[in-house]
Amino acid sequence: MVCGGDHDDDDIHDGCSGDNLQVLTRGNTDQPFKPLLQAIQSGDYEQFEAAAQKYGNEALCFRDEWGYTPAHWAALYGNAEALKYLVARGVTVDTSCYGIQGSKPVHWAARKGHTAAVQVLLQAGVDANVADFKGLTPLMTASMFGQTSTASFLLGMGAQHHLTDINGDSALHWASYKGYADLVKLLVYSGADLTKVDNFGSTPLHLAALSGNAMCVKTLCQNAEVSLQPKDKNGKTPLSLAVNHRYKEIAGVLNSEIKKRKKVIMPGGLIQTALNAMFGRSIYSKGPLLLFLCSFLMWWYPLYVYKVIPATWNLTRGCHYTYMAWNVFMWICWITTKHSDPGYLPINSGRYIRIIRQLPTFTCDMRTKKDILARLCHTCRCVRPPRVKHCRMCNRCVKEFDHHCHFVSNCIGIGNRSWYFCFVISLTMNCSYVIYMVSCTLNVEGFNILYVLALLQAIAFGILSLAVTVTICSSVLLNLTRNELINYKKYAYLKNEEDKFHNPFSRGIVLNVLEFFGCTRTKVEKNEDEFFCCD
Ligand SMILES: [Zn+2]
Ligand SMILES: [Zn+2]
Repeated sequence: MVCGGDHDDDDIHDGCSGDNLQVLTRGNTDQPFKPLLQAIQSGDYEQFEAAAQKYGNEALCFRDEWGYTPAHWAALYGNAEALKYLVARGVTVDTSCYGIQGSKPVHWAARKGHTAAVQVLLQAGVDANVADFKGLTPLMTASMFGQTSTASFLLGMGAQHHLTDINGDSALHWASYKGYADLVKLLVYSGADLTKVDNFGSTPLHLAALSGNAMCVKTLCQNAEVSLQPKDKNGKTPLSLAVNHRYKEIAGVLNSEIKKRKKVIMPGGLIQTALNAMFGRSIYSKGPLLLFLCSFLMWWYPLYVYKVIPATWNLTRGCHYTYMAWNVFMWICWITTKHSDPGYLPINSGRYIRIIRQLPTFTCDMRTKKDILARLCHTCRCVRPPRVKHCRMCNRCVKEFDHHCHFVSNCIGIGNRSWYFCFVISLTMNCSYVIYMVSCTLNVEGFNILYVLALLQAIAFGILSLAVTVTICSSVLLNLTRNELINYKKYAYLKNEEDKFHNPFSRGIVLNVLEFFGCTRTKVEKNEDEFFCCD
């Protein structure tokens, strides 16, 4: 869609507003159609059945001058029983209406958030990704009208979030444009492409800036891969659009996010940059892994074998033996961390499928419903217990997700965190040995730029690994993951009734340490079922 310009969601024929039954029958001289539509609208099944039996299949398959069928109206009013009746009578429930939109009943049901009607239509064989003449799928339609639970249901039933309409807009573009923060979150969680550009050069962030909803903008900005100052085909950035539309709060959010990212490349933010490189803010990057391997295998080890050993073997023989032993240990830990399962949650779980199927008939309050929706991962098709986070790099949900480490190119979670801890400790030890041995070599052989470079590199790696060791030690002692330590404000389970920080997982230092090394079961594993209110 063109930023600040027209949008065409209201092109759907006026009749679709469904508030005025007269629109339905306007121009219809065919009287049998009218009682049937009245019965559909009233939701009175007996009245509908009586009208259907009286007027027969001719009325059930009737199409008015706009091509609307009884199935369209049943979908619009969320009359799932009438739809079931139509399906049972073999009536086609997948007909496009006439005109430029060509909506099918499933689009109307999605638009109004009638999940039960959508379910009947999908069960009748309607494709969850069926497009109308403008390329809009039911998921896009639900996103356009803020129907979060219907969108969630559609995602669970196989709706694809990467599809786009004829203007190149995806469901995320629409949810952002309309300012539905919950939907934006749902689509972001589901792995929607945050950087997709539509035919007008607009990203979801451009459209969120136009929505007037600062929460949508914040949600998108929190993701490192979202560029904050992309230009659309008119050369406009999200910030310039927000300023033009006088959305001060959004402009403020964008300005502070831009500043935050700039800080990272300023001298004061060097440590942050180094930590980001260590923990991998640069998404999808293999750079840190290559840097780590090359600096050991292609640079330091040859220098050690050909220069340092001959110069210092007799002086520090014991030190060399210990260093080699630490090296063997470090590589064992590195390989095990890299190749072990960090604690991936099984995909396609039966519980997820059961919840998705029950969604249309959930009777619990909105808050509980939202809570349940937030627990669903539509990418892994699983239900996430607390402390589980979906890793965007691995594209899997990880139990007690700590972070995705680019130096080992794997997630760090409950399954491999103890190996990772040993790896970081051994790396710190190795760096201190290298500093000592290179200093000795410099003493014996005099100044050589190669030794100075090796020394600087060992100091840099040493500081980083020491910082990581300290971070891990604090998370071991507190029984919180690094992700929880950083994002504690985001997690409801880390807050008490007064909305202040509260750590329900700490069981005392000894038990916390034992739990970290897998010697005792975690509290969440024990009480997992408490966290689910439906099954
Ligand atoms: Zn997941
Ligand atoms: Zn990962």
